[in-house]
Amino acid sequence: MMTPSAETFVTLRREFHAHPELAREETRTSSTISRLLAEWGYRVHDGIGGHGVVGVLSRGHGSKSIALRADIDALPISEETGAPYASRHAGKMHACGHDGHTAIMLATAHDLAKRPFGDGTVVAVFQPAEEIGQGAKAMFDDGLLERFGFDAVFGLHNLPGMPAGEWGFRSGPFWAALDDLVVDIRGFGGHGGLPHLTRDPVVAGAQMVLALQSIVSRNVDPLQAAVVTVGAFNAGAARNVVPNAASLGLNIRSFEPDVRDLIIKRIGEIATGMANAFQVEISMQVRHNTRAVVNDPTMTAFARDVAIGRFGTEKVHDQIRPMSVSDDFAEFLVRRPGSYIVLGNGEKSFPLHHPKYDFNDELIAPASAYWGELVRSFLRN
Ligand SMILES: [Zn+2]
Ligand SMILES: [Zn+2]
Repeated sequence: MMTPSAETFVTLRREFHAHPELAREETRTSSTISRLLAEWGYRVHDGIGGHGVVGVLSRGHGSKSIALRADIDALPISEETGAPYASRHAGKMHACGHDGHTAIMLATAHDLAKRPFGDGTVVAVFQPAEEIGQGAKAMFDDGLLERFGFDAVFGLHNLPGMPAGEWGFRSGPFWAALDDLVVDIRGFGGHGGLPHLTRDPVVAGAQMVLALQSIVSRNVDPLQAAVVTVGAFNAGAARNVVPNAASLGLNIRSFEPDVRDLIIKRIGEIATGMANAFQVEISMQVRHNTRAVVNDPTMTAFARDVAIGRFGTEKVHDQIRPMSVSDDFAEFLVRRPGSYIVLGNGEKSFPLHHPKYDFNDELIAPASAYWGELVRSFLRN
């Protein structure tokens, strides 16, 4: 049975769900968070890294400080859940469960404000713009670390496919680094019936797409994981015209910096080689989007033991497999030791970013109880 206060946070989660806000537009969500934190006695700092909010609560004279992070933004997806609390904004949807992560953090913040948590400081970080991989960096650029100086940081993401309420931990590299890369190809267009007078960027681009597949199969160590996806190939508009230009949009995932560097180097070499072979020119732009999420071993063991103490070993999975998705929680982990944790959203849950995905409200009570216990154990040690 849920306690009345747990029901309040389910209602709040559904309220966030009905009003999704995309990265950099999280004004309504942020102001709800700020208002509640202030009501509960937190020192509230808003407008950090865009629409980020930080709530700070101190007790006693302890100098230890722990941060918890929740992401708050939604996605440009048209919702198909049919839920009574479905998105009221066409083309926008909480399809990654950030509405749930936010509700969990608020439930935790409420509990920490109402009951003793020991001696020290809790820093509740509500991060915007996770889905575009820029919110965490923006918050640090705005002085998150200098202003709030926490000793350790923890974050949580729900995980469809894992039984509801089961936990997953992994020390070391856990979620992948994400890089975006665009290869622009310039040829010489002309009549589709006179191809010998053109230098065709479509044929060159097609060869590049195929050759790029060899990077993971032939260049990357077989015991390392990596993904090279050509997600966009844009060229031409008419069937009887050889276009002047084409472009390839690539998405690269890796876990180790040297693998990431190798992949980017090989893409450049292959694209240049193919361009020479097919008499076109290329230029390449790389955008380093998100680093790999690398969990600190000590903090991960600590967080895992708190979960085992509360939920038992049968609900806690240690050293689960790394995942080739990405999250800018990585920016926190390069600055402070901590751990990113996953929590099962249910075996029947639609996948993250699916138009029928929905966050499992049953997770709010146990997850916020877990965060509360993590904070108390951390400040006690
Ligand atoms: Zn997402
Ligand atoms: Zn997410």
